[in-house]
Amino acid sequence: MEGKIELRAGDITTLDVDAIVNAANNTLMGGGGVDGAIHRAAGPGLVEECLLLNGCPTGEAKITRGYNLKARHIIHTVGPVWHGGGKNEENLLAGCYRKSLLLARENNIKTIAFPAISTGAYRFPMELAARIAVNEARRFLRDNTELEKVIFVCFDQRTLNIYEAALAADA
Ligand code: ADP
Repeated sequence: MEGKIELRAGDITTLDVDAIVNAANNTLMGGGGVDGAIHRAAGPGLVEECLLLNGCPTGEAKITRGYNLKARHIIHTVGPVWHGGGKNEENLLAGCYRKSLLLARENNIKTIAFPAISTGAYRFPMELAARIAVNEARRFLRDNTELEKVIFVCFDQRTLNIYEAALAADA
């Protein structure tokens, strides 16, 4: 099971996987950070499809095609803004991973890549976010053997170090 979780440094938009996950906002109309990078790389077809989705609540996920990306699908999920931890942020972030993985299963997706949801503009602490990400992936992989690979894409060296520590820790 652990062999199915992989860490990768770099830009999520370049990955050749069944689905990449976007750390979107509630409008699903694009934004900064990884969201902007995904919309730029996917091209204008993406925002047209997103227009039809009526946004997305925090902690939930919706799926589109991948357009100009190598990835066949994009799963858009909306992470919580970090307000200090007393606003259900941890459960909402866990929900992003869980709902994204459930959508992947429904769409027969075998390989999926996640960015570090909420850890940029939304200011979620990276160590805690990485632990939640790894725990949710482990839990899902335990119960869903048809999923082949979960990749955590780390945009910088600090993120990679923190994910390595989270993977090294016990479930
Ligand atoms: P959020 O609003 O959910 O915090 P951000 O896009 O601001 O989303 O940041 C989420 C994480 O994605 C950050 O850790 C950031 O460094 C990372 N990131 C930004 N661009 C990319 C990219 N092209 N590929 C992978 N990760 C990225």
